[in-house]
Amino acid sequence: MSEARDRMGRLILALRSQGITDPRVLNAIENTPREVFVADLFKEQSWEDKALPIDCGQTISQPYIVGLMTQSLDVQPRHRVLEIGTGSGYQAAVLSPLARYVYSVERYKALLIEAKARFERLHLDNVITRFGDGGEGWPEQAPFDRIIVTAAAPVEPTALLAQLKPNGIMVAPVGAGPVQTLLKYTGDGQGGFRRETLCEVRFVPLVPGAAKDA
Ligand code: SAH
Repeated sequence: MSEARDRMGRLILALRSQGITDPRVLNAIENTPREVFVADLFKEQSWEDKALPIDCGQTISQPYIVGLMTQSLDVQPRHRVLEIGTGSGYQAAVLSPLARYVYSVERYKALLIEAKARFERLHLDNVITRFGDGGEGWPEQAPFDRIIVTAAAPVEPTALLAQLKPNGIMVAPVGAGPVQTLLKYTGDGQGGFRRETLCEVRFVPLVPGAAKDA
């Protein structure tokens, strides 16, 4: 077994022992080369279960959190999924084989250009991106079966909940401080939502408006 496969095997075991047991999610993580989504400096650490810095002062999430959020979304093959915060593109790449389409919005043009190049390189043709303020969602493509927010919303992101199908699921870190609550919203089919707390997390903030400098 090559060293890379060995490391990946250890990561998958670690995720499994922490409750990420959905085989489709584990397969998606196993088949997504995380080293492609980080700068050369961090490639050695790309299979460790930790968040790493990316450009524009942002971070690529810890694999466990990517696993937990992806598993909690319960994505089905025909689903259209909205992601807020493309960042490196890693989370979108993990969602890609599970969904029909992944729509991903990022407020930094520089990050989006790099992420798009990675999607092309890995032939992830069902990931569709947009530059702009994800806090407003993607009204032209709404409603979505699933929504994943990968930046911390200071308060409940109601504009995004409004773009979820009646029985949809949204997972989002919510809170204004350095530690936020990861919440799972499940639509009750009548315009209301059941809220479940998954765990405490540390995400970079959801910042209103598209970035002007990059
Ligand atoms: N899903 C990413 C995680 C990136 S970190 C990955 O797998 O790498 C969160 C990202 O959300 C950052 O890139 C940040 O620029 C972006 N972001 C923050 N506020 C945003 C907003 N209002 N609209 C779109 N993207 C936003």
